Amino acid sequence: MRQLGVLGGMSWESTASYYRLLNQGVREQRGGLHSAPLLLHSVDFAEIAALQASGDWDAAGAVLADIAQRLEQAGATALLLATNTMHKVAPAIEAAVTIPLLHIGDAVGQALQRQGVRRVALLGTRFTMQEAFYRERLAARFGIEVIVPDATQMAEVDRVIFAELCQGVFRDDARAYYLDCLSALVGQGAEAAILGCTEIGLLLENTPAPLRLFDSTELHVAMGLDWILAAPDA
Ligand code: GLU
Repeated sequence: MRQLGVLGGMSWESTASYYRLLNQGVREQRGGLHSAPLLLHSVDFAEIAALQASGDWDAAGAVLADIAQRLEQAGATALLLATNTMHKVAPAIEAAVTIPLLHIGDAVGQALQRQGVRRVALLGTRFTMQEAFYRERLAARFGIEVIVPDATQMAEVDRVIFAELCQGVFRDDARAYYLDCLSALVGQGAEAAILGCTEIGLLLENTPAPLRLFDSTELHVAMGLDWILAAPDA
């Protein structure tokens, strides 16, 4: 199997899901005592979130690029950046290493394309929902149109991510609010929805939704598993 480097801790609530799902996936495929060969670097998310909030993306990119280099030097053959938002600085990370960064937007885009989805709702942080790096990748590479909640809903979806989900708080009222946002987007023609923040799947787990959900964490993990398992055992 090939060793995968994971840039995690953004937040650790979802990195714990990545760790569990990657290991479960290898066990399902290989059986017995097999588990995922991983190098995990988990950051102090408060430091990254402060850089996000102050708009210092260059500094955030430099921190993650340095971690990526260290993971490559330690033997990672590819990288998984376990957050949608920080893919805003994917170019800085890619420029710092010679191994591939398995992009979460491609994992999501490929799954949507396979299912023939053309117009999709996106829930995530305000950075992911508002800025170009995520939406434009889906449009340019996969021909998928992204629609997002209105300004009021967007602010609340974002608040819940940082004030609750990334702190391990999963409340019924937040769950209901997210479902209301999804219903509004169905009314605007969304055929499916991207859970475009790696903690949202934890909130909506086992919750019936008004449209098909594409969980970025699960799809990104599947991409990582394909990488790990693609080569025969050394
Ligand atoms: N994990 C979240 C995401 O997928 C939010 C945390 C962050 O801002 O990195 O975007």
